[in-house]
Amino acid sequence: MNFTHEQLPSRIVFGVGRRRETPHELGALGASRLLVIAGSHDTATVDELVDRLDIPVETIIGVRPHVPSGIVRDTLDVVDRFAADAVVTIGGGSATGLGKMVALERDVELVAIPTTYAGSEMTPIWGTTEGGHKTTGRSPRVLPSTVIYDPELTTGLPRNVTVNSAFNAIAHCVEALWLADTSPITVEAAISAVQAIVGSVEAVADRLDDLAARTRLSYGAHRAGSVLASAGTGLLHQTAHVFGGMFDLDHGAMYAVLTPHMVSHHLDTVPDARQPLREALGADPHHRLTQLAEHVDAPRYLVDIGFPLDRFDAATDAVARRAGISVADVEPILTAALQPTERTDAP
Ligand code: NAD
Repeated sequence: MNFTHEQLPSRIVFGVGRRRETPHELGALGASRLLVIAGSHDTATVDELVDRLDIPVETIIGVRPHVPSGIVRDTLDVVDRFAADAVVTIGGGSATGLGKMVALERDVELVAIPTTYAGSEMTPIWGTTEGGHKTTGRSPRVLPSTVIYDPELTTGLPRNVTVNSAFNAIAHCVEALWLADTSPITVEAAISAVQAIVGSVEAVADRLDDLAARTRLSYGAHRAGSVLASAGTGLLHQTAHVFGGMFDLDHGAMYAVLTPHMVSHHLDTVPDARQPLREALGADPHHRLTQLAEHVDAPRYLVDIGFPLDRFDAATDAVARRAGISVADVEPILTAALQPTERTDAP
């Protein structure tokens, strides 16, 4: 064994009902003026938190996918005017992502309370979009000081968001298994996270308020976020970032579509990934993911999630440039993901 592994320093508070400990966690961080950033579905959680706090609070309700730069600027204005020294985000990756941009630009403590399975709360990766281009970067500044997982907050997630977001978490893990310099610690975490996610997402899709299955899924998503933090990203994530920036496609839905195709490609091209992928997903990893997608009604093709057919060549070029590989290498994967082969309206 010969590896380098970075263990990132955040405090994790996990369990049903534990969102109610947020005031205590903020106190421990010395927060004195708080900005709460939350998605529009999470107003009840915001009200509950504000009622329990005895420090001045400002709120921003409503976030946008892919963290548009204009919204970042508006949020920084609020932070400056209010003199916030702490930010709590409540919501999915879009809320967490906006909080991270604040932490990148201002000196604030960041506490994340995730309500999806995207995993951003565990990573030092930030991202923002301007003029159809998504820029991402890494900085320890954006890693939340404290992450509070309360599975109760996920029981209201609609079925399609649940499923797509779970595929986002699976993507973090499978990609780690084919990246060249993944440490054995990360590989082990990735395998067990995929098992936890795949083992619970069908139960959750069958009964959205199954709190025990939701809890296992949140735990898998937490582990998947840590995997992303240490393994980083490869072709699968780079493709989703390019498509997200160019076409504003739903982030989770892109992973639901792309992940089985990328797994299939990497099983063929990266022999070292075969055994860990089989440990995570069984003897036929591509088949297992396809079976899962069918069970939970996940989108299967890019055309089904709003990908514009007439931009296929431009999108393929952009992915190849971003990933530093040839168009010939990426085109077959994206063609397979574009639409069912029996359709005849190929570009
Ligand atoms: P999101 O935050 O946009 O949420 C997805 C959907 O879930 C939205 O429609 C939202 O309204 C809905 N939702 C969220 N909470 C809800 C609730 N409690 N009840 C009902 N509906 C709710 O997207 P996401 O899939 O969570 O995250 C994707 C974003 O996060 C992308 O911008 C992606 O780039 C980013 N991301 C970043 C990292 C990172 O490490 N930086 C990792 C993963 C994802």
